[in-house]
Amino acid sequence: MTDALETAHKKEISCTNCGAPIEYIEGESVLTCGFCGTTSMLAGFDKIVKVEAHYVLPAKKQKPEIRVSVMEWMKQGWLKAADLADQASFSKFDGIVLPFWVVKSQAKTYWSGKNRRSRTVGSGDNRRTETYWEPTSGQFSEEYNWSVYAREKPDEIWGLDALNPGGKSVQADWGKFFMGLGMGSRASGKSNLLDGKEKFDLEKIPEMKIINGQITQDRAEQKSRNDMLNLHRQIADKKATTITDCDTTVDIIGVDLVYVPMWELAYTYKGKSYRVLANGNSGEVITGEAPVGKWDKVVVLAIIMTILGAILGLIAHFGDVSEMWIGTGIAGGIGAGYALWTAMFSKG
Ligand SMILES: [Zn+2]
Repeated sequence: MTDALETAHKKEISCTNCGAPIEYIEGESVLTCGFCGTTSMLAGFDKIVKVEAHYVLPAKKQKPEIRVSVMEWMKQGWLKAADLADQASFSKFDGIVLPFWVVKSQAKTYWSGKNRRSRTVGSGDNRRTETYWEPTSGQFSEEYNWSVYAREKPDEIWGLDALNPGGKSVQADWGKFFMGLGMGSRASGKSNLLDGKEKFDLEKIPEMKIINGQITQDRAEQKSRNDMLNLHRQIADKKATTITDCDTTVDIIGVDLVYVPMWELAYTYKGKSYRVLANGNSGEVITGEAPVGKWDKVVVLAIIMTILGAILGLIAHFGDVSEMWIGTGIAGGIGAGYALWTAMFSKG
């Protein structure tokens, strides 16, 4: 957010609880009083509603603990550069408190589709393989505490996608190396921002900047519903070769507004910048970008080339085992050599 944006279109209402003035920017609709901590929601013209289900995750972890937690994160995990924790230097370390609507819900999906199968028919010289389609169907159901960031532009804060399934909790950076194929990145699972929630109190998030919400409860429900429909469609798509029907119902059980302390970090490693987002209540890293180690690239490329070599060997000399292994060895060697060269002489 720029200062220009903050000074433009400033408005003011009186707190529904203590009457103190609350300043806000046009477009913001979920406002927290800086004096008593009461949160009000602007619902349409001149209509102000007090938000009852209003919580906070206390800022239990401060800068030193977050630093330790991020360093630990750098040391763990497959394919991260081995010297990351030693070489990384932090260039950004900001703590802010962000508003989220957490939509407790159950999503149930019925799907049907077809699987491609093959079978052998005939006998003797007429033996052949034919493919056919087999109908299939099923259902699955999931409970979520779906997090919706209460701002119009969720991208203002990097990494919030990782709070819900469908995002990424680790984003591996392979640099110019083209054969990473998404390895080393990890999909995010379910998280629950209501874990450890307490009644809202400004003293539980001392000296941190609080961001007001812009999205009202109705819109948050709508957004979470759409996100869950999309996620379930993606899950259903993997259940059969083709999906012909996919019907998801979302039951919303409850909606809470929770303010979460978060740490936005950036660090540089070998001249390149990477981002990390951490939870200021649990200290956990929510998501982060990490460079892949150069030796990992060497190993991965050697393995890929070996497999390619084996396949080529099989195609070229089907049946001749010894020649296949010679092909494999040559391809693996070339691959390892190339990978080594890439690792040593290219940046990132
Ligand atoms: Zn107040």
